[in-house]
Amino acid sequence: MTTSPRTPANTPGNDPANAPGDDRANAPANAPRDASAHTIEGPPPQAPAETREKASAEPPALPVAAGRDVLRAALALVRADRRGFLAAVLLNVCAVGAGLLAPWLLGEIVERVRAGSGVSAVDRLAAGILAASLAQILLTRWARLHAHRFGERAQARVRERFAARLLALPPAVAERAGTGDLVVRGTTDVSTVGTTLRDAGPEVFVAALQVPLILGAAVLVSPLLGACGVLGLAVTWAAARWYMRRAPAAYLAEGAANAALAEEVTASAAGARTTEVYGLAERRLARVLDRVAAAHRAREGTLALRSVLFPAVDFGAFLPVAAALLLGGLLHAHGLASLGAVLACALYLRKLSDPVDILLQWLEFLQRGSASFARVEGLGLVTGEVPAPRVPTGDGTLRLDAVRHSYDGDRDAVRDVTLTVRPGERLVVVGPSGAGKTTLGRLVSGAETPSGGAVTLDGVPVHALPPGRVVLVTQEHHVFLGTLRENLALAAPDASDADLERALATVGADWAAELPAGLDTALGPGGLSPDGAAIQQLSLARTLLLDPGILVLDEATSLIDPRTARRTERALAAVLAGRTVITVAHRLHTTRDADRVAVMEEGTLTELGTHEELVAAEGTYAGLWRAWHGG
Ligand code: ATP
Repeated sequence: MTTSPRTPANTPGNDPANAPGDDRANAPANAPRDASAHTIEGPPPQAPAETREKASAEPPALPVAAGRDVLRAALALVRADRRGFLAAVLLNVCAVGAGLLAPWLLGEIVERVRAGSGVSAVDRLAAGILAASLAQILLTRWARLHAHRFGERAQARVRERFAARLLALPPAVAERAGTGDLVVRGTTDVSTVGTTLRDAGPEVFVAALQVPLILGAAVLVSPLLGACGVLGLAVTWAAARWYMRRAPAAYLAEGAANAALAEEVTASAAGARTTEVYGLAERRLARVLDRVAAAHRAREGTLALRSVLFPAVDFGAFLPVAAALLLGGLLHAHGLASLGAVLACALYLRKLSDPVDILLQWLEFLQRGSASFARVEGLGLVTGEVPAPRVPTGDGTLRLDAVRHSYDGDRDAVRDVTLTVRPGERLVVVGPSGAGKTTLGRLVSGAETPSGGAVTLDGVPVHALPPGRVVLVTQEHHVFLGTLRENLALAAPDASDADLERALATVGADWAAELPAGLDTALGPGGLSPDGAAIQQLSLARTLLLDPGILVLDEATSLIDPRTARRTERALAAVLAGRTVITVAHRLHTTRDADRVAVMEEGTLTELGTHEELVAAEGTYAGLWRAWHGG
């Protein structure tokens, strides 16, 4: 018997090739995530209150689901595809049942021969063995097909749900979690769960079903001899438990030691000249040898585990067969068991080692799969059930009521802001650096959920609005792999080419008109790589096409050269006439055209009025205005 429990190094899900490609192209270096997912599509649904609080209280890690949540999720997958699952179970039971016939028929042949039956009776039994074996092969194949199909469908469900939850993730949580965690969950973890559901799950399921059925058949033929199988299983179970307790840490240590060795060797090779010039060869060699020794020790650690597991598992497989033959011989000698029953039992117990082998092979992978599933399901703890958006009915009045926000639960970035923005109003928010302007913009757009107070549009909290009602445009943007047309049509799938070109022209993206392939130009690696300013223009064009009711602009034109930026802003203002536009202004050239100016200082709203009123009031704004004009 050969047993080869899979190590982290040879398990399928470990293969980086399994990870789907990252389709991001050209996001600015400072863009930590797909900004457009939230900025263009509007605010996502709100997370349950207690997880929201938790998320803001203990960034950056995303939660990991508990064991019972993982079990519940796995059962939900079974419930969602009951028929597929039942078909796989029934076919497997039939396949195992067909496989159990052959040993019993063989025992019968022995008994018939001993009883001196004719050749024709034995031939009939032999034909029965042949038929049972054929049926087993066909049924097993059919059962596997159903099990793998079930796994594929379950995998697709996991992927779809993950994608939906990812998009529903509150932007603030996504930002704090960082790209790394989300990317690993969305690629490696989802892929490992997929492989588990598609490959490991069905294999383990079939094997787990076979063990009690084979054991049951053996017990049915002879309870005493069948009990020998339990003995063998107990030995294997103990060995597997011993191994599984130690294996994860040992394989992690081996992986880490190998990585350290590879790093040391690479560094030595890369710095060979420097090493030579400074005569550091011996020192570097000593370090490499140290790492080699550490890797060797780690390898010995995992080898030691396997050198206990394999013989123990082999012993667990050999023991019941040997015990059944010895005990069977004794029983037969005393006339307590027929020769056929002894033979059938020994064959059943020999057969038992096949599913046990499979279980051991996949056990470790199943563990990794459930760990990955716990991380994938963890996203659901943040998003909760995605509520249906609420459509506001009213004239479009935006209200901030005693709004307070703290990022760290300690210091308020914004506090006590009460403000009503009238429909179609142009409000410019100004103030010194760190005054809370950006935070206010994020609160208004629903990108950040206030720690206290409420931000509502016609009475509906902004985070519960349908996508596209309030849109935040910042300097962080994203270009998707695809053509220029596809990038723009994200916001308006039904827009004509003329609409797309008009939007580009409005935001001053003259470069787009000069592209030889026009809207068919491919963006991203292998195609056109737009610079920061062009990406910002693309984002603004998308926003125009989306045509939101309320637009929040925060450094939306900061990467565009000042002259074009001014032209873009004026064009935007003309196109967006009638929409509510809130601009976080870092330069004061837009304040004069605004309906009102709001001054933020140390997180609070200190002045509010028209440009003229505030200049006349001789307060902070008047000072800022004079400084801006150099007067
Ligand atoms: P600037 O003009 O420099 O962009 P601002 O007026 O837009 O500043 P905010 O960016 O809103 O001010 O910052 C307000 C306060 O909140 C600052 O003290 C800032 O350090 C803090 N802050 C902003 N973003 C975060 C964050 N993600 N996590 C923690 N603190 C933050």
